[in-house]
Amino acid sequence: MSDTPAPPQPSHRLRIDTAALAANWRALDALSGGASAGAAIKAECYGLGIDACLPALRDAGARQFYVAHWSEVAAALRHVGPDQIAVLHGPMNSADVDYACATGVVPVINSLDQARRWSDGGGGVCHLMIDTGINRLGVAADQLSNSAISALDVNILMSHLASADEDSPMNVRQLTAFRECLTAVPHRLASLANSAGIGLGADYAFDCTRPGLALYGGVPRGDMAGTIQQVAHIEAAIIQTRRLNPGDAVGYNGEFTATKPMRVGTVSLGYADGFLRARGPGALVNCGDHKLPLLGKVSMDMVVADLSDAPTVGEGNWVQVPFNLPDAARQSTVSQYELLTVMGGRLRG
Ligand SMILES: *Cc1c(COP(=O)(O)O)cnc(C)c1O
Repeated sequence: MSDTPAPPQPSHRLRIDTAALAANWRALDALSGGASAGAAIKAECYGLGIDACLPALRDAGARQFYVAHWSEVAAALRHVGPDQIAVLHGPMNSADVDYACATGVVPVINSLDQARRWSDGGGGVCHLMIDTGINRLGVAADQLSNSAISALDVNILMSHLASADEDSPMNVRQLTAFRECLTAVPHRLASLANSAGIGLGADYAFDCTRPGLALYGGVPRGDMAGTIQQVAHIEAAIIQTRRLNPGDAVGYNGEFTATKPMRVGTVSLGYADGFLRARGPGALVNCGDHKLPLLGKVSMDMVVADLSDAPTVGEGNWVQVPFNLPDAARQSTVSQYELLTVMGGRLRG
């Protein structure tokens, strides 16, 4: 077993443009004004990979990193210190508390129960999430006077915006509610804005911001489009070509049928890599200057492209998958967040 040789090069790849990632962090940090930007790194840096992304974010200057699960801590600890890692789901049982104490990673407290559990287990510095209207996790404003909250040593007092990607009256309602909470709980830093919230302006920045999507090339608000660069680049090889006669159908359920003789190529990329079926029909892949329409259903490991207008393209050539996130979201009706986070581990390599 230990003699297994390293595998040969795969026939598809995800390339992370770490310079673009660092530039996005710097741009979001600058847009945060006097506040400093952290980085949401949950879900493997939104599908792009912790090891590929976290060092670039750290080296660009990010100091505070957010994961959702305790299971995500170990990977982050390879690159940053425990006091820089916040676990958004908080301690759900005493094992979580023990793990936080053993590693020195900082929990986000989301309820009176979590506050008591943290203090009873030894406690120490924590962050506190206040719910100002998203109604997911967080302590309600009228619970802040509870003794379980007063007992906490709160570093970052935070809340999360529900509709920052829209010009919704909800944004000001949450901003006002958050401001009213600031005096109720002693804390060192305050934080409200995610990526879209940074785009809402200086009022929303407080001491630190928590971008995620926009770091990785997502554009949550149109006004940020010129600022954010594409980070993820997907390429895959054509692994077989064939000729179709009129009447020949392509892929599962034969959803595409040739009406004329044509040449097609099978591309080594499928929904197991995060290239969802919704990305198939009507979409194109590029091979150099050639634009190749996709035909039929996307399979788990393959998708078929039309090579009729690209006679020089064949087996062994690589295609580039357009991955401008706003465009891909419009084409597929899948959200930019989902397009990133469904990226398959097989593609990350
Ligand atoms: C995921 C998350 C973020 C990052 O949000 P984006 O919209 O991706 O910028 C920030 N804060 C909290 C609490 C989160 O759960």
